Amino acid sequence: MTNNIYFIANWKMYGSTSSLNSLNKLINLSKLKKYNKAKIIYFPPFTLINDFIKKFSKSKISVGGQNCHQHEDYGSFTGSISPKMLKDLGCQFVILGHSENRTLGESDHVINKKIRSALNKNLKIIFCIGETLKEKRKKATHSVLRKQINRGLKGVKNCQNILIAYEPVWSIGSGLIPKSEALEINVRKIRKLISKKTKFKLPILYGGSVNSQNITSLKNITGISGFLIGSASQSSKKFIDIIKKTIN
Ligand code: PEP
Repeated sequence: MTNNIYFIANWKMYGSTSSLNSLNKLINLSKLKKYNKAKIIYFPPFTLINDFIKKFSKSKISVGGQNCHQHEDYGSFTGSISPKMLKDLGCQFVILGHSENRTLGESDHVINKKIRSALNKNLKIIFCIGETLKEKRKKATHSVLRKQINRGLKGVKNCQNILIAYEPVWSIGSGLIPKSEALEINVRKIRKLISKKTKFKLPILYGGSVNSQNITSLKNITGISGFLIGSASQSSKKFIDIIKKTIN
């Protein structure tokens, strides 16, 4: 990994205002020259976005939303947050297509609409793709990735603001990670599929049970520009450990 290395912290539906104190060490680390390449982006729950933005205001750590509505502006959508609102708060990123939302019924078509809306509001996208265990067993991984990429990016012009997060669904929260060889094959496949959509070399990240032990092998996977980290990112110590072991 030579250029920017992304460390995405997805806090899911966890965290309270008292969680902010644990971030001081990470802020200090992010200012060290040694970690210049580390692009750290936090995705707290909506309730904490404002606090996180203030907390990181004197650092290079960015903040994003874990999802957004497909309608880019204001509208009568109770309980929803639009790209305009995320932008207004100071978010630079949004995660779209996360399997935890796909499982709740979010279709490729809706994800495509969300991607277009968020890009229109100048948000950068972490676009999540990945196969379920059933699809992996049926050897359908590549066809699933093709479908998710083709449908998700249909008609999307400014792809340079998209980062791809390859997250095998069976790996998220399970403690399991793919075998290195299989992961490299899938990353190569994603690269090929993306190259048919855009001339830009979009960063491809890996997500799924990344921790401070398995990072020593994951960091050697060819073609990966960083990691999307769920549960391990909720502990500042574990998250810092992952960054330190990746850039040493
Ligand atoms: C995720 O939230 O996308 C994720 C990869 O979670 P975990 O690291 O807990 O598997």
